[in-house]
Amino acid sequence: GLELKDLTLAYGDIDVVRKISLRVEPGTTTCVIGPSGSGKSTLLRGINRLHEPKSGDVLLDGASTLGQHPDQLRRKVGMVFQHFNLFPDHTALENVALSPWKVKGLSKKEALRVARERLDEVGLRERADHKPRDLSGGQQQRVAIARALAMEPQVMLFDEATSALDPELVNGVLNLMASLSGRGMTMVVVTHEMGFARRAANQVVFMDEGQVVETGTPDDIFDRPQSARLQRFLSEVL
Ligand code: ATP
Ligand code: MG
Repeated sequence: GLELKDLTLAYGDIDVVRKISLRVEPGTTTCVIGPSGSGKSTLLRGINRLHEPKSGDVLLDGASTLGQHPDQLRRKVGMVFQHFNLFPDHTALENVALSPWKVKGLSKKEALRVARERLDEVGLRERADHKPRDLSGGQQQRVAIARALAMEPQVMLFDEATSALDPELVNGVLNLMASLSGRGMTMVVVTHEMGFARRAANQVVFMDEGQVVETGTPDDIFDRPQSARLQRFLSEVL
C-alpha cells in the first residue's frame, strides 16, 4: 500500500499541497476529486517525485521512499498523464518495451514479449506496429497504460487520463481503468469523471486549496457530503 504523511509541496514560497495524509490500502483504488487548482496534479507528481516534496513523507509498503533515487521509485510507481507522452518515433510495441529493456534490464526479446502481453491486455494487439500518430487518442492512452503496466508497478497514478480524449473515446479508457481496479491494482486516480469514481473507487478524497477536505466511500462523498465546500463542488459538477 501507499501512505502519505503530512506531505507538503510548494512552488516557490507558496505551499500548493499542504500537509496531506492519506492511506491507500493494497489492491484498492482511491479517486481524488476537487476544483481546478486545488493541487491534485501536484500531489500525484509529489508521490512519484516529478516534484520534490518540501516536507512530509511518502511510504510504500511501510517504507519511506524519500531517501530513494526518483528513478528507483518510478519503477514501483507508474504514472499515466492527460497527454499520453508517448515517444512519437517509436511504435506502440516499442513504447511499451523500452522501459522494461532499458530501465529494468530485461533482454530485448523478453521486453518485447512482455510488451506484446501488455498490449494484448489493453486490446491493442493489432495496433502494435503503429506509431502514436496513427492511433486514436483512446488507443494512445491505452498504449500509455500498457507502458506503465509493463514495469509491473506496485501503484499506478492516473492524472486526468481521459480529459484530453474525444467524448466517444472516454469510456474505452475508463473501462480499462475500472478493470485494472477490479483486478486489484493499487491505484490513485485524479479524475473529473464522477461516475467512474462512484463505480471504481474504494475511497474518494475531496481536495480544495491544497488540503484534503473530506475522505470517504463513494456513498459518503456523493450521497452524504458533510462540508459546504464539497456540497458546492458537487452541485457544480454533477
Ligand atoms: P486542474 O484540475 O486544473 O488540473 P489541479 O488540482 O491539478 O488543477 P495543480 O496543477 O496541482 O492543480 O495546481 C495547484 C496550484 O499550483 C495552482 O494554484 C497552480 O496555479 C499552481 N501551480 C501549478 N503549476 C505551477 C508552476 N509550474 N508554477 C507555479 N505554480 C504552479
Ligand atoms: Mg491537474
